[in-house]
Amino acid sequence: MTTNERRALNEALFRDVNERIAESAELFDVERTEFVCECADPNCTERVSASLEEYESVRAKPTTFLLVPGHEAPDIERVVATHGHFHVVEKVQAAVRRTVVRLDPRRRGGGAAPSET
Ligand SMILES: [Zn+2]
Repeated sequence: MTTNERRALNEALFRDVNERIAESAELFDVERTEFVCECADPNCTERVSASLEEYESVRAKPTTFLLVPGHEAPDIERVVATHGHFHVVEKVQAAVRRTVVRLDPRRRGGGAAPSET
C-alpha cells in the first residue's frame, strides 16, 4: 500500500465515523452537530461544527471531505469551499480518489445493496 492510499484509508475511516454522527443527529433531530475532522492525519482529534445540510452537501460527492481549516494536504486535495469554521476539500490525487470512491459509504450500501443498474 502506498502512503497516499494509507492516507485515503484514514480519511475514509473518519468519514465512516461522521456517517454515524450524522445518523444520530438525525435521530435526535438536531440541526447542527460536531463532526470529526476528515483530514489525512490519523492522530487528528479536532472537531468540525457543521449543520446536517452542510454535511450532506459534502457527502453528495464521494471525493469531497470536510476538515478544519489548515488541515488540508495540498499534494492530494484542493479546497473547493470555505465555510469559516470548516473547509471542504476535493481529492485530486489519483490513488487517493480511487480509494475514497471505492470506500464511499453511500455507494457501498451496507452489504445488502442490490446490484447497480
Ligand atoms: Zn484534522
